Amino acid sequence: MSISELKKQFIEGRTTPVAVINRLAGEISARDARTGAYLSHNLETALAVAGRADLSLPLGGVPIAIKDNINALGQPCTCGSRILAENYRAPYDATVIRKLRAAGAIPFGRMNMDEFAMGSSTENSALQTTRNPHDPERIVGGSSGGSAAAVADGTALVALGSDTGGSIRQPASHCGVVGLKPSYGRVSRYGLVAFASSLDQIGPLTRSVEDAARILQVIAGPDPADSTCLDAPVPDYLSGLNDGVKGLRLGLPKEYFGDGIDPGVRRQVEAAVAKLAGQGAEIIDISLPHTGYAVATYYVIAPAEASSNLSRFDGIRYGHRTASPADIDTLYQRSREEGFGPEVKRRIILGTYVLSSGYYDAYYHRAQQVRTLIRRDFEQAFGGVDAILSPVAPTPARKLGVNAEDPLQEYLSDIFTLAANLAGACAISVPCGTTAFDGAAALPVGLQIIGPHLGEAMLLRVARAAE
Ligand code: GLN
Repeated sequence: MSISELKKQFIEGRTTPVAVINRLAGEISARDARTGAYLSHNLETALAVAGRADLSLPLGGVPIAIKDNINALGQPCTCGSRILAENYRAPYDATVIRKLRAAGAIPFGRMNMDEFAMGSSTENSALQTTRNPHDPERIVGGSSGGSAAAVADGTALVALGSDTGGSIRQPASHCGVVGLKPSYGRVSRYGLVAFASSLDQIGPLTRSVEDAARILQVIAGPDPADSTCLDAPVPDYLSGLNDGVKGLRLGLPKEYFGDGIDPGVRRQVEAAVAKLAGQGAEIIDISLPHTGYAVATYYVIAPAEASSNLSRFDGIRYGHRTASPADIDTLYQRSREEGFGPEVKRRIILGTYVLSSGYYDAYYHRAQQVRTLIRRDFEQAFGGVDAILSPVAPTPARKLGVNAEDPLQEYLSDIFTLAANLAGACAISVPCGTTAFDGAAALPVGLQIIGPHLGEAMLLRVARAAE
């Protein structure tokens, strides 16, 4: 059910927020043992809040599933990691949670994710496996895999995720739902556990573009608690949603349609482009010439920032602490050794290396320079087009376990999503049909639409037309 349909049913008295929470709890116990999207949920609290929901509010009585790296007072916030799983409870509400509550929404459920949002499959969760509702032998994508899977599986209506290099869009694409990464600075990250602070954004995963617009409307806007959150007015994201694409200029970057794309993905994305052309959009061939450097640039900058951000997990202030250490250094070392999984350690080692004396200029500084070139590619492109169209991922969902020994292969699967984060642009994944792939008959494919910085209204309008 969409948010508007749910609101209608509330108003007509056909259902109540309490009934919806009970229904969701039933769906979760019926199906989530197989999917594994939920790490936890608190039924009693949600029912109590639902019992006094104010239905006149924009999201009055709407339950929302939350990726387990966004703090909600008193609830677990494991980040998919052993280091936080034992005993950490959120001491405050993230700004997005505070805004959602003020709009009447009910945060219900903590969703599985790759540990500290590092990954593209949710297999890096230290806590459990999440399976694709379309085929349980396959990944859901990641890192917001639990959020995407629950929305696809009907065990959540809408969800929040976070996107540092594709973590909302790619799981949305693999699960056949809508996933929106807002522009850098559009949504406050206060209360989001930081991975790479110059890239992270919080955004919605939903069953429709309109629902994504409704959630964004509530969570966007300035926040004195996050100095990177822009003091820019929030437009009405719903009013122009159905204006269509007639007369709009949509760019096709040649670098996003080269070798290595699965033919079925290419076919579905090209069909979606043709339909937008049929609705009156002008399709323009463009070039984003520095695209080929995005993976290398991201995998220097993101680990560098992560190595700094994750230094706060030291066994003193948060989470796991090793048993009876001999001295303080052993306490730090063993707590981190025992608490972090292999991918997190790999990123910390990479990031520490590229920031260290003698390597900083060769790697980190160079990556920042290339990042500027990538950002300029987009600025130039948006001089001539209103939005950019591409695939979200080069293939549909792969089988579980395939890239376990090959992190580089896994990093390459982010090739189409990273650049939007490096540029600060907004981007969305919209389902565009299914394709046969690797023995599976029908797996979802996502169309990516990239918009200029703070261009969410235009982005959502194109996405609605594509939908
Ligand atoms: N897959 C990318 C990574 O592993 C992006 C993850 C994300 O957006 N959080 O870093």
